[in-house]
Amino acid sequence: VWRPSSAPGSYSCGFGTIDQGELALRIARVRDQAGSTWLARVEDDKVVPVLPAEERFGADALRDALGDALDLRAQVACAAPSPPYSLISPLSAPQKIMAIGLNYVDHAREAGLPLPDVPVMFMKAGSALIGPGEAICYRSRDTSEVDYEGELAVVVGRRARDVSVNEALGCVFGYTVCNDVSARDAQFGDGQFTRGKSFDTFCPVGPWVTTRDEIPDIQALPLRTRVNGVLVQDGSTADMVFSVAEIVSYLSRFITLMPGDLISTGTPAGVGFVRQPPLFLTDGDVVEIEIGPLGRLTNPVKQVD
Ligand code: ZN
Repeated sequence: VWRPSSAPGSYSCGFGTIDQGELALRIARVRDQAGSTWLARVEDDKVVPVLPAEERFGADALRDALGDALDLRAQVACAAPSPPYSLISPLSAPQKIMAIGLNYVDHAREAGLPLPDVPVMFMKAGSALIGPGEAICYRSRDTSEVDYEGELAVVVGRRARDVSVNEALGCVFGYTVCNDVSARDAQFGDGQFTRGKSFDTFCPVGPWVTTRDEIPDIQALPLRTRVNGVLVQDGSTADMVFSVAEIVSYLSRFITLMPGDLISTGTPAGVGFVRQPPLFLTDGDVVEIEIGPLGRLTNPVKQVD
């Protein structure tokens, strides 16, 4: 699931562009100079490693910390790490990556589809996860229609089953940014989404997870996506068809949500395939997604054959 960062230290994580306000608790996973990996608090512009994040297959330090109900705010700083640090995907092996389609009014409209009556849910493969700065990779023989979708993603904090809308946010640990990268030819060719949304590297997440209590209103965050610096999505989580709480409640009716599970909550208008002419990602492009106080997720695009 995990793969090394393609460009250690070269990420753009949005320092300096975030309105700091109150000091948010942000949890990142980082690699230090010696190659060791850590869970870390990001305090202002300072990275404070607090737990080892071993890179064994199946290991996921944040998932396990949440499962054990560790108070990450109270963990003391580890002495061993050697700075500087580069950010890697905050989660490495969540049990599930769920996503919601057609969850913004203007995106459903641009796709020419009616608004759904219930959240449209699909899954992305865990092996698609990458972190900030890592390359979104594709082979030209597999797809010629790689598209971006800037999305708010929820990180589940505790086991949740059949929770009400009112209880739902209480099950959320925090929020991060996700690029629900999609091979449109595979997505539409198959008649369902799984393969087209699950190519290796098609799930960039980061730059870190911001705790829920630091975000007073999750339904009032600006979401902007840029491709090579050009603004292509300019939305707000206020325009979701189903709120984060409604999505969490709905999913929990059918599927037990587990600590560390990711739920990507849909994308606003401006994706590439509906544009005239279409705008698909190609080798050398850079995609940046910024969601207000959650930071900016930046990934280059690379053709690998
Ligand atoms: Zn999506």
